[in-house]
Amino acid sequence: MLTRTQQICLLLTTILPPSALAVDHVSLKRDGQPIHISGEVLVEAQDGGLLLMDSSRVLWAVTPDEITRHEKDQQEFKLLDEDEMAAQLTNELTGQFRVHKTAHYVICYNTSEAYAKWCGALFERLYRAFGSYWKNRGFELDEPKWPLVALVFDDRQSYAQYSQAELGDATASIIGYFSLRTNRVTMYDLTGANRAANRGLSSAAQITRILSRPEAERTVATIIHEATHQLAFNRGLQTRYADIPLWVSEGIAIYFETPDLRSKSGWRNIGGVNHVRLKDFRRYLRSRPADSLTTLVSDDQRFRNARTAPEAYAEAWALNYFLIRQYPKEHLAYTKLLADKKLLLYDSPAERREQFQEAFGGDLQQLDEEFLRYIRTVR
Ligand SMILES: [Zn+2]
Repeated sequence: MLTRTQQICLLLTTILPPSALAVDHVSLKRDGQPIHISGEVLVEAQDGGLLLMDSSRVLWAVTPDEITRHEKDQQEFKLLDEDEMAAQLTNELTGQFRVHKTAHYVICYNTSEAYAKWCGALFERLYRAFGSYWKNRGFELDEPKWPLVALVFDDRQSYAQYSQAELGDATASIIGYFSLRTNRVTMYDLTGANRAANRGLSSAAQITRILSRPEAERTVATIIHEATHQLAFNRGLQTRYADIPLWVSEGIAIYFETPDLRSKSGWRNIGGVNHVRLKDFRRYLRSRPADSLTTLVSDDQRFRNARTAPEAYAEAWALNYFLIRQYPKEHLAYTKLLADKKLLLYDSPAERREQFQEAFGGDLQQLDEEFLRYIRTVR
């Protein structure tokens, strides 16, 4: 999953071009607390509301009544580099947090060093594979000029404490997430290797052993899934706070998540059959309504409802799996169309449906029949 904790309701007017020489300093009051943000205004709404990005790429949606002061200076807006990001994170996460840096990631952790390194190696492997996957299909991804951040807590309790503010009650059922607002992946040590009783179990080989058990499949899949969202939103495939249909953003993350537990890193294949989602989809087929494809591609409602979400995720995987294999050119063109979506401009369900039909053909019923025929052959 991914979270958009703050509902954006800016009345859109101007999307500002990035200006090299200007830092916006905005003071605001939120829930009685003063907050100061220095960053770049990305969108200014008609009513004075702002969407700002700070130097750690956290997005701030500010309503006009919250703003107490707004000034600009002529300094160059700079994103934090990896050392500055590491310093900010250890400062923010009070306690025994340390930092493990890799080529593209800053991993802030209070669990064992071995687990942080295991995550770093997995992320880097995914980073490379994700880039070459899209390159081979004709989409050259960006190389982000900022570090990608992952927070790894030592146990469920400390993770829940941190994520409560963003996830609320959902914290109990979510073992890791990518936040569109903070741009971070947050999770906890799934091996429990840092617990006192397991202290001796923290070598890389032991982590591999623990996470290669069949019952670890979903947990490893979750790490890959969330890290895939982060890559998509940081390498130019998708834009945070732009209107990316969930059947695509979730479908792609699920497409990549299939772990390979026999591999040392826990993952090596892209786009293998996701048996967990396939099983869910097969179950859904028994009661799948005739307009299921239409509702899936028209809006995000089925994903937002806890009762219908598991089936929507399964169908999103199945649909992407089908389109990537049977309509690769069309799927790429549609992916590029979404990559150009602008901040805070939301399509109506009819517009989304039209864009889908323009990409994949106007006859949804015919496409649906072909889709179901294809998925029935998948083993
Ligand atoms: Zn997701």
